[in-house]
Amino acid sequence: MMRLPPFTYLAPRTVADAARALAEHGPDAMLVAGGTDLYPNMKRRQFEPKVLIGLRAVRETAGIRGDANGGFAIGATTTLSVVAAHPAIARDFPALATAAGLVSSPQLRNMGTLGGNLCVDTRCNYYNQSYPWRKAIGFCMKKDGDICLVAPGSSRCWAVSSSDTAPVLWSLGAKVRLVSAAGERTVPVESFYRDDGIEYLAKRPDEILAEILLPPADGWTSAYLKLRRRGSFDFPVLGVAVALRLDGERVAQARIVLGAVASQPREAKTAAAALVIRRSRPARPPQPPRRLR
Ligand SMILES: Cc1cc2nc3c(=O)[nH]c(=O)nc-3n(C[C@H](O)[C@H](O)[C@H](O)COP(=O)(O)OP(=O)(O)OC[C@H]3O[C@@H](n4cnc5c(N)ncnc54)[C@H](O)[C@@H]3O)c2cc1C
Ligand code: SF4
Repeated sequence: MMRLPPFTYLAPRTVADAARALAEHGPDAMLVAGGTDLYPNMKRRQFEPKVLIGLRAVRETAGIRGDANGGFAIGATTTLSVVAAHPAIARDFPALATAAGLVSSPQLRNMGTLGGNLCVDTRCNYYNQSYPWRKAIGFCMKKDGDICLVAPGSSRCWAVSSSDTAPVLWSLGAKVRLVSAAGERTVPVESFYRDDGIEYLAKRPDEILAEILLPPADGWTSAYLKLRRRGSFDFPVLGVAVALRLDGERVAQARIVLGAVASQPREAKTAAAALVIRRSRPARPPQPPRRLR
């Protein structure tokens, strides 16, 4: 059995208190929300924080406010089950409800949060293994080692972003509100990620993801398709998030964002542009059949 390493657990009741604790303990501390990603990683000694700052007692970051006209604010500690089952989210942002409902298994969706899903660690077959397994192959640069076992000549880690909701929120033009002891800022989801398997988040370590802000639905509709090895529950091997703004029958704007293909979600701009062009062109009049020579 794999056991958790010892740590001190702090349970602040406000985001401000959590931000102060994070600033005070610096690199010794990590945030934990549902713990469905972090605790298994700690058991494998991929993370060894001395202090865990739990967000479960912070009420202000749980729940969904707003409507399709003004946009929604989803607290970062809202569970994936709540996001998946929310009638207005399912109606106005169906891709988000679908993606949240496809993460892992029902038990983990009841614990796992939307904020945790956006911050979920990148994955790699050489890294998502027990400590003895990783030790037996000499570790890798993501933890405890100094080379990449996927690409030994590489100076960077290629571990893959495997969040189901990240490509969806990117495609929907969502933003995240980040809070630290020094203040707060709001950034688009597309700026929240970096193309690096180790430093995959563009947020500072002292920043807490407090809220996810969805823009007004404004004629947009969306869908999420997930390819996974096990149909019952599994991380994506490919996630495809599509958001379309329809003008009658016409596709006026399109965004396609792929998950599980790189260390951050990847926007497929050419494919999205092709959707707009193909549907916008007037239908060609029927052509007479060409004569074969
Ligand atoms: C068997 C199994 C299957 C899984 N399948 C999937 C899957 O199909 N798709 C998928 O996307 N994920 C999957 N996961 C991963 C995980 O369950 C989800 O990503 C979940 O949403 C993580 O949320 P959490 O609240 O539990 O995060 P936690 O484990 O609490 O935290 C994850 C990371 O985010 C950080 N963090 C959490 N909240 C915040 C915050 N508010 N601000 C800043 N940092 C924060 C933590 O410090 C940690 O680094 C799976 C996990 C397991 C064990
Ligand atoms: S891609 Fe990253 S996690 Fe995978 S072997 Fe290379 S350094 Fe390690």
